[in-house]
Amino acid sequence: MTEFSAEELSKHKARLVARLGELDSRLHGIEDELMSHQSRDWEELATEREQDEVLTSMGDGGRDEMRAIYAALQRLDTGDYGYCTKCGTRIAEDRLSVLPATPFCRSCAP
Ligand SMILES: [Zn+2]
Repeated sequence: MTEFSAEELSKHKARLVARLGELDSRLHGIEDELMSHQSRDWEELATEREQDEVLTSMGDGGRDEMRAIYAALQRLDTGDYGYCTKCGTRIAEDRLSVLPATPFCRSCAP
């Protein structure tokens, strides 16, 4: 099994950290948006509620991705990064460049 070079690992780590920062600021933006929706007319409330649901589900998706990234960073520290957590196969480089936080190889992906 081919090992990852330190260069490859730090490249993936940099991408994960950058993505984490992106998600973090996006989530804070969503929170601000949700806060600003309080105390408005009853009339507006129905449409706003729909928007809030969209924003909240976006927030949940972002939080899931952040959890996946934290887990990937932890695997970087323990040296397990880039190997499928299910079957142990090395995850293909092209898959990692699209999904740097994925814990699964292509055949184990749900
Ligand atoms: Zn696998």
